[in-house]
Amino acid sequence: MSTTHTTRMLILGSGPAGLSAAIYGARAGMAPIVVQGMQPGGQLMTTTDVENYPGFRDVIQGPWLMEQMQAQAEHVGTRMLWDQIVSVDLSRRPFRLTGDGGDVYEGDVLVIATGAQAKWLGLDSEKLLQGKGVSACATCDGFFYRGKKVVVIGGGNTAVEEALYLTNHSQDVTLIHRRDSLRAERILQERLFAHPNITVLWNKTVDRFVGAGDPAVLVGLDLKDTLTGEISHIAADGGFVAIGHKPATELFKDHLELDADGYIRVETGSTRTAIPGVFACGDVMDKTYRQAVTAAGTGCMAALDAERFLAEADFEAQRERVDA
Ligand SMILES: Cc1cc2nc3c(=O)[nH]c(=O)nc-3n(C[C@H](O)[C@H](O)[C@H](O)COP(=O)(O)OP(=O)(O)OC[C@H]3O[C@@H](n4cnc5c(N)ncnc54)[C@H](O)[C@@H]3O)c2cc1C
Repeated sequence: MSTTHTTRMLILGSGPAGLSAAIYGARAGMAPIVVQGMQPGGQLMTTTDVENYPGFRDVIQGPWLMEQMQAQAEHVGTRMLWDQIVSVDLSRRPFRLTGDGGDVYEGDVLVIATGAQAKWLGLDSEKLLQGKGVSACATCDGFFYRGKKVVVIGGGNTAVEEALYLTNHSQDVTLIHRRDSLRAERILQERLFAHPNITVLWNKTVDRFVGAGDPAVLVGLDLKDTLTGEISHIAADGGFVAIGHKPATELFKDHLELDADGYIRVETGSTRTAIPGVFACGDVMDKTYRQAVTAAGTGCMAALDAERFLAEADFEAQRERVDA
């Protein structure tokens, strides 16, 4: 038997954006429900050391941080429910989401915080060494490779930006690309080619990330030449896969305005989407920063936007009743 869960404020996603929206929403009296999805706690559950979330002098663990955020959200009055949403009806308020078991979630406002996932190459060795030298985020992990040798895989803007960023920490950065030219913007390419600490390896794909030690950490990569098929080896302490991200917006593509890369469009300087009462925060609407702290920041904004929207809607409804 399916159940209908109703709330003033429905939040989809339980990463830093969704949980921050929940903390603010609960403290504003909106008794939020958070639908957690397949990855309760979001992307930080898949990492270990986090050194850039403000408030902690020492390195903290991603899963611990998310447990704390969830505990705080619950403590102030959030209801956490586990479900994976498979369809949405945003045509009228309350907005309706349906879970894969048939349960229905209704909210007077909806905050979408479904995040984005980094694209990976899909190699077994890559999976094995994720967090042990293989990363998809230079801003998050570059600091751990100070003075070490790193490689970046990719040829678009993200890859070039990651390579340039990594020169803040490493004097030996190699960009590996499967073609003989880059897709990145011209100005980024010029900065890349002019940088004395960056080398580019053309026409190479990653055949295998090579680990050593117990537990194994990355020590290099086997590369395959796309023209000759020849295998070569490059030593590296860090390997950054920078082939793009995929925002989790499949559910919304026929309902909300998305940009060319599939991110939800919001009004500049706010979290308001094209549908009044529907807000988006975190990586699902932000392809520039993609950090836990920025996701949390926009989560806070979404709750404040939602609270103001409901206050105005309540006021209008009351005025209509008085006028009637
Ligand atoms: C390995 C790794 C290391 C990182 N390290 C750092 C770091 O050190 N510092 C830093 O600031 N950032 C780091 N990041 C980036 C950071 O994790 C993200 O920017 C942040 O998690 C984005 O938060 P979010 O809430 O927008 O989305 P996410 O964390 O992606 O959460 C999305 C949520 O939406 C839910 N969801 C999605 N679809 C559905 C659905 N259909 N139904 C129900 N729920 C759904 C998921 O279950 C999940 O709970 C790292 C990321 C990765 C992958």
